[in-house]
Amino acid sequence: MHEECGVVGVSFKDEAPAALSIYYALYALQHRGQESAGITVHDGAQVRTLKGMGLVPEIFNRQDIQRLKGHVGIGHVRYSTTGSSKIENCQPLLVSFKSGNIAIAHNGNLVNSKELRTELEKEGRIFLSDSDTEVIAHLLVKKLMNYELEDAVQELMKLLIGSYSLVILIDNSLIVVRDPLGIKPLCLGQIDNGYVVTSESAAIDILNGQLIRDIAPGEMLIFSNGSYESKHLVKSRNHAHCVFEYIYFARPDSVIDGELVYNVRMRIGKTLFEEHPAKADIVSPVPDSGITYAIGFSKESAIDYMEGLMKNRYIGRTFIMPGQDMRETAVRLKLNTIRPNIEGKSVVLVDDSIVRGTTSRRIIDLMRKSGAREIHVRIASPPIISPCYLGIDMATREELVAAHKAVKGVEAVINADSLGYISLEGLVKSIGIPLDDLCVGCLTGEYPVEIPGERCTRRQLKLSEF
Ligand code: AMP
Repeated sequence: MHEECGVVGVSFKDEAPAALSIYYALYALQHRGQESAGITVHDGAQVRTLKGMGLVPEIFNRQDIQRLKGHVGIGHVRYSTTGSSKIENCQPLLVSFKSGNIAIAHNGNLVNSKELRTELEKEGRIFLSDSDTEVIAHLLVKKLMNYELEDAVQELMKLLIGSYSLVILIDNSLIVVRDPLGIKPLCLGQIDNGYVVTSESAAIDILNGQLIRDIAPGEMLIFSNGSYESKHLVKSRNHAHCVFEYIYFARPDSVIDGELVYNVRMRIGKTLFEEHPAKADIVSPVPDSGITYAIGFSKESAIDYMEGLMKNRYIGRTFIMPGQDMRETAVRLKLNTIRPNIEGKSVVLVDDSIVRGTTSRRIIDLMRKSGAREIHVRIASPPIISPCYLGIDMATREELVAAHKAVKGVEAVINADSLGYISLEGLVKSIGIPLDDLCVGCLTGEYPVEIPGERCTRRQLKLSEF
């Protein structure tokens, strides 16, 4: 199961209501998941949860937030496409055990959850969902039966392979954990009277807070009574921050592992021009994902930035009635051309990535129909040649157009006059984090953890290193 998610945890010193801050933070993280959302809070005596399918404002109203009493809590937004769109998979996942309640929200994907689940099932444990988060919940409860919290979490981390940024409520203690490779983002912020931990720092800004730092890979933080304690539970020689967070997934106003996503994207745009210059009348982004790159490209090339396409931001899950030219209607509903800006012109069209190639093809066809003379496509990632197993919902290898075709072949598929992808070196330089500390599995087919049937470049952690 492939998922994309956002998580948040809030801990206040006094009786301030955590649910309202979590609600605002989930709004800020909505781009990370639009399928379901949930909030769990604890008031020192009782745990309360509300979760549902849909967007944050569709699930929570003012009364709900007021009813969710508690000074500590966690929240989650989730998106998945592989047939698991059901309420059982919504998070936070709440379980009760001998000593109390545990609520967990997870961003990431375990690559060994099947094996772990089979082991647990052999012991007679039952599962209500097909999410790997439930596997984590079972294992945590199991470890808490035999160990104190710190050791229990460390023992849990020894079993998990993959990406996991976790926010956990054990009664009224907030615990946050980031996997030893730091694959998915997680950061800490100070807010009035307390702390917030969230997938992206933009959510801290929305709460008028200050970003303190990233949660270190392999680190656990325990919050109680308005302060927190840090434990580095697992060491790792290198990290594996997901490049796709910078390329597509994260908001440009977020700082991830020390780099402002906007600045990274500007640098990528500049590098794209250096590597693949073009003679053209205008530089135009595919909105919204191509905008910052196109600005960078335009600055460096001194070719005018001009919008050739306009996006409908309210499109949601619109249905298209059969009988019209469905394909064109579907594209035009989402993206329409600004005809005079492109008519008779040579256009550099900038986008973040090509996955299946279908979007680019449709956009280019539309632009040609609107009179664009030439279309030179520039892409802010190297060709995506391998699937993601670690938390980005992408596509299967068969579906990835660049897995089977060289650049010229993709150029033909999307019907561009020219096509240039940024190089891996150019991307890494633009991000500003060494290649050894990035996960570039989707771009190279070499992953930072062992995945059956795939190549792994990293030295595996030995148990003695925990
Ligand atoms: P396509 O090549 O038709 O599969 O579409 C690629 C476009 O979808 C890219 O230009 C991105 O803007 C967007 N995209 C890339 N990755 C994802 C993802 N994981 N989820 C949703 N949209 C994505």
